[in-house]
Amino acid sequence: MTTDNSGDVRLSGISKTYGSFTAVHPLELTVPQGSFFALLGASGCGKTTTLRMIAGLEEPSSGTVHLGDQEVTHLPPYKRPVNTVFQSYALFPHLDIFENVAFGLRRRGIKSVKKQVEEMLELVQLGEQARKKPHQLSGGQQQRVAVARALINTPKVLLLDEPLGALDLKLRRQMQLELKRIQTEVGITFIHVTHDQEEAMTMADTVAVMNAGRVEQLGSPTDLYENPQTTFVANFLGTSNLIEAEVDSKSGEDIVLRAGGGKLVLPESRCGAPTTTGGKVLVGVRPEKISLTHADDAGEIAENRNRITGKIADSSFIGVSTQYVIDSPVCPEFEVYAQNIDRDPRLVPGAEVVLHWNPAHTFGLDAAQD
Ligand code: ATP
Repeated sequence: MTTDNSGDVRLSGISKTYGSFTAVHPLELTVPQGSFFALLGASGCGKTTTLRMIAGLEEPSSGTVHLGDQEVTHLPPYKRPVNTVFQSYALFPHLDIFENVAFGLRRRGIKSVKKQVEEMLELVQLGEQARKKPHQLSGGQQQRVAVARALINTPKVLLLDEPLGALDLKLRRQMQLELKRIQTEVGITFIHVTHDQEEAMTMADTVAVMNAGRVEQLGSPTDLYENPQTTFVANFLGTSNLIEAEVDSKSGEDIVLRAGGGKLVLPESRCGAPTTTGGKVLVGVRPEKISLTHADDAGEIAENRNRITGKIADSSFIGVSTQYVIDSPVCPEFEVYAQNIDRDPRLVPGAEVVLHWNPAHTFGLDAAQD
């Protein structure tokens, strides 16, 4: 049995320099056929440059690009089985939706386009809008036309450069699900560039977090969130509380750490730092994994939980949960999101509290790496 790998994207040592500035450091990256892959990072980290090198819109300074078994490094964009959707939809304003989508087929000299265009409009759920002009559609609908137009030539890979950037939040969320559905239906490789961590996590099977021209970490959204390997990734994907600690000893599968006169436990498998005694570890825990107990009730907390003491500095009620900021000797401005079920009325600013959590919900970062 042969497996189709024509939609694999392989970047080997690909880099981009502008004069003395390196926008993308030599990058090794393989995106498997049929995956929904996101390049995620802050503005200027090199994600668009990387995408443009895959598209052929930017010449790499070094390295090679392969699509399946074919090397395309020096092929012009139109000779690559790739298409790109940009933030600006760039639809033809004088053509109706049908003709916008048909454009790529007509340009290739294909005469009977009706069936293909209708199928494509069905795919993006715009069958009813075929005879409208772009300005008669909403932003989200126009972006779906842009996707249909990019897919009609059956590319092996679709590149999406911040395609939802111009939409308001509600429409963005709808379109995220819509793009995911379309990708699952067509089954080709999607590579999506975004600076929005929620967007990347909602849509992609695999996310590459980029920082200053390098991929800091690659993984599934859950893996990146639960097992960040650098402080940058820990902070870029959600909020992390980071506690400076030092390795004291090992106990079975766990490491015992000292932090501000107290003790914390971390499963060794979740520690990305050296675990020898005296080693410095940044212990991370997400705000929603923490429980808050009033100091008077500290005796009720189960023995096997990590715990630190603190004082509530601030709290804000945000409906389903309350966000607390806790001052603690080991981590100033510790953030805790507590669900409002059975909320203790004593948990107000000034109250002495104990923060506690399951050690399995802790990760350890190498304090020396940054
Ligand atoms: P954004 O989300 O703002 O588009 P990005 O992560 O996509 O950011 P790139 O557009 O890839 O970032 O740019 C990476 C870096 O390379 C930036 O510092 C940018 O200023 C620089 N850069 C991009 N194109 C050029 C160019 N043609 N000449 C010089 N520098 C450039």
